[in-house]
Amino acid sequence: MMEYLFGDPPEVSETKEIAPGIHWLRMPLPMALDHINLWLIEDGPGWTLIDTGLYSGLSRKIWRDVMDKRLGGRPLTRVICTHFHPDHVGMAGWLVEQTGAEFWMPREEWLYARVLTIDTGENFTEAMVAHYHRAGGSPEYLAKLRERGAFFAGIVSEVPRSIRRIRDGDSFEISGKAWRIVVGNGHSPEHACLLSEALGLFISGDLVLPRISPHIGVYADEPNGDPLRDYLETLEKFHALPDTASVLPSHNEPFRGLHERLGALQQHHAERLDAFAAACTAPATALDVAKQVFARRLDSAQLGFAIAETVAHLNYLTTENQIARHADGNGVYLYQRI
Ligand SMILES: [Zn+2]
Repeated sequence: MMEYLFGDPPEVSETKEIAPGIHWLRMPLPMALDHINLWLIEDGPGWTLIDTGLYSGLSRKIWRDVMDKRLGGRPLTRVICTHFHPDHVGMAGWLVEQTGAEFWMPREEWLYARVLTIDTGENFTEAMVAHYHRAGGSPEYLAKLRERGAFFAGIVSEVPRSIRRIRDGDSFEISGKAWRIVVGNGHSPEHACLLSEALGLFISGDLVLPRISPHIGVYADEPNGDPLRDYLETLEKFHALPDTASVLPSHNEPFRGLHERLGALQQHHAERLDAFAAACTAPATALDVAKQVFARRLDSAQLGFAIAETVAHLNYLTTENQIARHADGNGVYLYQRI
């Protein structure tokens, strides 16, 4: 049985010690998913931090408060980012600049973060618009995307120019306790999780969340990519991790019952694949399919995620030869069950 641990989350700017030397910090996010969990670990004379929050005035204020009041006068000495998404890497550059902390990240994740903070021009936007055009986006929707443009750099502080690279299987110590990097794929290119068998803790980042299924999406950078396959392989791989570990996820609350949750996520995607295949009985665009499967009103931000998630499932089904894709006269992709 899945079981939630450690009670209510900490209030903003407060921390909650959930195991000796392991502290839970929550940062607000200005979206439907309104928070991210960060983990502060006492580390000899300093602190190791896992993930950082979105870059904003509010995050800077909270971080100043936390550094003044919650760290016992000890500095942040190491910042580890699990992956390149803005709620995880957003404050990293700012924190590293303020504190001189070491910056650890998987190389592919760091490269994505660097590229997306630099590649902010019109060509980036046009590639994104072309992707959503192929998916069947309406001219009004594409105009909205054009207006929004490249937004990543606005919510991420300048990403540090150097990293200590972390790789799958790397071992290291925090305050004399052994930790190991466990990399998973699909949600992002090289997402790092952290396992301490000694402490019975698994910091799962966005790869295993207790109540929502991690976003698996196809974007303009790799339109024919098959990240769902990567993610399903990761779920399979994670069954080898200890079921007894307390899972510390980036969203929602810590829990125990890793294997049950992995099974539920596998089941979720199996059902979704059936639903996506069924939605392609007649030729349909990714947008048509998304509307049918998600079956609820989606605002324009949610629509982007929904289409990306839909294309991920359609690309998987295409690779499996369950559906075929062809382009219509306007370059819009139509998917149909074989
Ligand atoms: Zn993420």
